[in-house]
Amino acid sequence: MRLVFIGPPGSGKGTQCKRLLAYLGVPHLSTGEMLRDAKSRGESVGTLAEQYMTRGQLVPDPIVMKLVGMRLLQPDCAQGYLFDGFPRTLNQARSLDQFLAELQAPLNLVLELQADDSELMRRMLYRATFEKRADDTPETIARRIEVYKQQTAPLIDYYRDRNLLISVNSMQETDVVATEIKRAVDSVRSSWSS
Ligand code: AMP
Repeated sequence: MRLVFIGPPGSGKGTQCKRLLAYLGVPHLSTGEMLRDAKSRGESVGTLAEQYMTRGQLVPDPIVMKLVGMRLLQPDCAQGYLFDGFPRTLNQARSLDQFLAELQAPLNLVLELQADDSELMRRMLYRATFEKRADDTPETIARRIEVYKQQTAPLIDYYRDRNLLISVNSMQETDVVATEIKRAVDSVRSSWSS
């Protein structure tokens, strides 16, 4: 199954992805992690990306697309994967569609996690107290939420128009959100077998 998770920072994507990965048994493709790994390996692309990440800005599309393109060609992606934090712009979504069309392996489902701004801010500040990420200051968090609204939210209509979108209210209990997500995944799977 080839799946995209969309949601603003703090919407619980990370937590829900972990649970869904255990359920589906596919690789977790987080572009944020790919970029942080590139930085910790001392790769120039990581150093370049860091300048954007610490400011709460999006890393330029060509850098992200290159990392994603290389990752998708690895053998463990052949049976599917779950994208977390990608695509984040319409340009990335279009490039991904084009790339997957060439591979004859289109996306099966896009899950959107929805939450209010105040709840997002509360969750992000809580996370910042135990994860020491350089991009978790209040100013950067607010900017990342704004960047999401401006650049990533348009993807919701893009995928809705392609009949790929299912939205879940992520302000519910974690277990309830997880159950709704599994239900969405199962409904897509059962439509293949019918
Ligand atoms: P995340 O771990 O998904 O919260 O991403 C952390 C940061 O990495 C973001 O705030 C961006 O600066 C950068 N980033 C991650 N994924 C992307 C992407 N798909 N496009 C552009 N920048 C990204």
